[in-house]
Amino acid sequence: MTLPFPPEHVAQRLLAWYVQQGRDLPWRHTRDSYSIWLSEIMLQQTTVAAAIPYYQRFLERFPTIADLAAAPLDSVIQAWAGLGYYSRARNLHKAAHMVMTEFSGQLPQSLEGLMALPGIGRSTAGAIMALAHNRPAPILDGNVRRVLVRLFAWREDPRSRQADKHLWFWAEELTSREDPHNYTQAIMDLGATVCTPRDPKCKNCPLAELCQALAFGVVQQLPMKRTKAPLPVRREVALLVNTKNSFLVRQRPAEGFLGGLWEFPVGLQGDQAESSPTVETLLTNLGLQGRLSQVGSLLHVYSHFKLDLSVWFVAVEGKTDIEHNHFRWFSVEELSNLPLHGAHRKALELVLQDPDNSQAFQVKH
Ligand code: SF4
Repeated sequence: MTLPFPPEHVAQRLLAWYVQQGRDLPWRHTRDSYSIWLSEIMLQQTTVAAAIPYYQRFLERFPTIADLAAAPLDSVIQAWAGLGYYSRARNLHKAAHMVMTEFSGQLPQSLEGLMALPGIGRSTAGAIMALAHNRPAPILDGNVRRVLVRLFAWREDPRSRQADKHLWFWAEELTSREDPHNYTQAIMDLGATVCTPRDPKCKNCPLAELCQALAFGVVQQLPMKRTKAPLPVRREVALLVNTKNSFLVRQRPAEGFLGGLWEFPVGLQGDQAESSPTVETLLTNLGLQGRLSQVGSLLHVYSHFKLDLSVWFVAVEGKTDIEHNHFRWFSVEELSNLPLHGAHRKALELVLQDPDNSQAFQVKH
């Protein structure tokens, strides 16, 4: 593969631009590989603005890998609650254990060693190598992928195996050998602030003279869009079973979708269930009887489906013992500290804001 310009021209321009325009972010004040690893994992599916307070609180709570490994998974999930994509938190916790037991408490200092840990792919490993150890390892996160697609005018599917082969090659060729730390931050920043998904600011771009998409007038067409099939809709009911200011919840299994998070009793509804049970039947199956009222419904979008959730309030007499089903009773105050998954946190808010209920719970804001 030949390059349309000398590769060092990219690093020279980016490094000069970064001195003037680079962002000041909390994880840029450290070379601690654990902090950098944490920031990279948080930023995989979260914006910088949303990640910053979580990053700071997480490090206050688990200042070292040893602290993270020693913490119960529940408290790690709780520190992550609201960020979504909880497999990231579970993998961090699992990887911290491996670091303590197999790597004497130190994150590996090689690409291969880092990639052996759960949740660390080639790009994250490259970022840790460059940012913590100033070693020239390429990265290819979403921002960098977009910059390279445009810089080299890649006009095919940007997620294909063929694209991967080319993009990783270019990423490797362009990475500065002299200053991989600043180069990596610079190319991340360029993607985040200049070569943005919509309306890239080519007039302010340090790579404009080299950019093939700009030269060919195809900036707006790249990266090539994939036609996405519409997300399937899953319809469920959530029963917010309440007595004496307490709600019934249970924890999902540690592994799998939304693993380790808490939720109210749920049931499938509509055409997705083989025979769609009524809300009354769901309640009976739980061994409960109570007064039912529908509070509303909400839509929650996950990466692979949309959840259409019908929210019901169920007033029962006394705390029926159904702990054999792993259910437990928690007060409204306790629920505020429990890692409920996102859709059910919204469901609880719906119930608490319902004029019929808000007085009864004396919700403290
Ligand atoms: S010139 Fe425009 S399209 Fe090309 S890299 Fe810069 S911002 Fe992106």
